[in-house]
Amino acid sequence: MDFTLSPEALEFRESVRAVLREHFTPEVSERQHSSGTFNSPEINRALAAAGVLERAVPGLGKGDPIELWMLFNEMEKVSAPVDGISMALMIGGVVAHVGSQEQQDTVLAEILTGEVLVSLGYSEPETGSDVAAASTRAVRDGDEWVINGAKMWTTMGHVANWILLLTRTNPDVPKHKGLTMFLIPMDLPGITVEPVHTMGTERTNATFYDDVRVPDRYRIGEVDGGWKVMAVALAFERGVMGGTSMGVPLLHHFHRWAAEVRDDAGRRLLDDPLVREQMVRVAIDNEIASLMTQRCAYIAATGGLPGLEGSMVKVFSTDAYQKASKWFSRSAGPAGLLQFGESGAAGDGWVEYDARHSPVTTIYGGTGEINRNNIAERHLGLPKAR
Ligand SMILES: Cc1cc2nc3c(=O)[nH]c(=O)nc-3n(C[C@H](O)[C@H](O)[C@H](O)COP(=O)(O)OP(=O)(O)OC[C@H]3O[C@@H](n4cnc5c(N)ncnc54)[C@H](O)[C@@H]3O)c2cc1C
Repeated sequence: MDFTLSPEALEFRESVRAVLREHFTPEVSERQHSSGTFNSPEINRALAAAGVLERAVPGLGKGDPIELWMLFNEMEKVSAPVDGISMALMIGGVVAHVGSQEQQDTVLAEILTGEVLVSLGYSEPETGSDVAAASTRAVRDGDEWVINGAKMWTTMGHVANWILLLTRTNPDVPKHKGLTMFLIPMDLPGITVEPVHTMGTERTNATFYDDVRVPDRYRIGEVDGGWKVMAVALAFERGVMGGTSMGVPLLHHFHRWAAEVRDDAGRRLLDDPLVREQMVRVAIDNEIASLMTQRCAYIAATGGLPGLEGSMVKVFSTDAYQKASKWFSRSAGPAGLLQFGESGAAGDGWVEYDARHSPVTTIYGGTGEINRNNIAERHLGLPKAR
C-alpha cells in the first residue's frame, strides 16, 4: 500500500484537528476521567457537522482510505474520548456491509449525525473469550423474538441508543452455527444496565435481558448466521477503530516531565541514558503501531476485512503501550504513583493513569492470548487452540 498522505487526507486531518482544538476542552477531559465514560457528545456532533464521520465508516467509500485511521489517530494522540464514537462507527461499518436497507436508512444514518451511540453485546458472564459459546437465548415467536440472558462488559451500554447483540437461536448444532445477531434499541422493555468500574478508569456495564420482545426486522444477517456478522465486526474492531496510539500521549507527557524534573545532584531525568533509550524505543514502537494501523484501515476502507492484520496490531500496540507505561512508572519512582491534580505527579498524573489503563487494553477487543491464537492459526498455520 501507499503510505503517502494525499492533499485530501491532509485536509481531512486538519478538519479533525480543528474540531479537537475547539471542542476537546479541559472540562471534557476531566469529565471523561471522573465519569469513566470515554465519550464526548460535543466532539461527536462537531465531527459530524464537519463531514468527518461519513468519511470514516469502513466500507462506505466516501473518503480516502487513510482517513479512517487518521480520525482515531488524531483523537488518541491528544487523549480525546474515543470509545463511544469508535464503537458507533465500527457498527456503522457492519451495517454498511451486512445490514438491511432499513438498518442503513435508520441506524447508520443516525450514527452519522454523531448523536447516536451503539454498544457491543458479545461477552457473557460465563463465556468471555469463547464468544461462540454465547448462551443468551433468542426464541422465535411469530414475527418477533423473545430474548433472555445476560451480557458482561457492555461498554457504553449506559449511554448507547442501540446494541449489537449476539444470541443463541439453535442450541442443537455446533456452537458457531447456532448464533444470530440483532441490532436492537437499548430502551426496549426488559433491558437493564448495571455499572462495572474498571481499574483503568473506564466504566463498562453488565446488561440483562428479561423476556425482551424484538421484531424480526431488528435481526442483522441470517438466522443462525451470527458468526458471519461477528467476523465483520471483529475485523473492524481490532486495529481499525483506534486503540493503537495510546503510547503517543504517554511519551509526550513523560518527555515534558522528564525535561523538568531533577535529582538531588541537579541532573535532569531526561539526561539519564537509560531513560533516553527507553523513550526512543517507545517512539519506534509508536511509529510501527501507526503504520500497522494504517494498513488495517486501508484494507477495511477498500472493502476488505483485516481480521488477521487487526490481531497483529492489537497485540503489538497494546503490549508496547503496557511496556512503555511500566518503564516510565519505574523511572518516575514515587512521583509515578501520584494522580491527576496531585502536586508533583509525573507527567501531570498521566504516568499513574497509563499504568492502570494499559493492562486493560490488552483485554478488551479480545485478549492478547486470543489474538495470538488467531495469528498462530491463520498466519503461521499452527493447529487450532480449541
Ligand atoms: C474494560 C473492558 C471493556 C470491554 N468491552 C466489551 C464490550 O463492549 N463488549 C463485549 O462484548 N466485550 C467487551 N469486553 C470483553 C473483552 O473483549 C474480552 O473478550 C473478555 O474480557 C474476555 O473474557 P473474560 O474476561 O471472561 O476472560 P476469560 O475468557 O475467562 O479469559 C481468562 C484468561 O484466559 C485466557 N484464555 C481464554 N481462552 C483462551 C484460549 N483459548 N487460549 C489461550 N488463552 C485463553 C485469556 O486470554 C485470559 O487471560 C471488555 C472487556 C474489558 C475488560
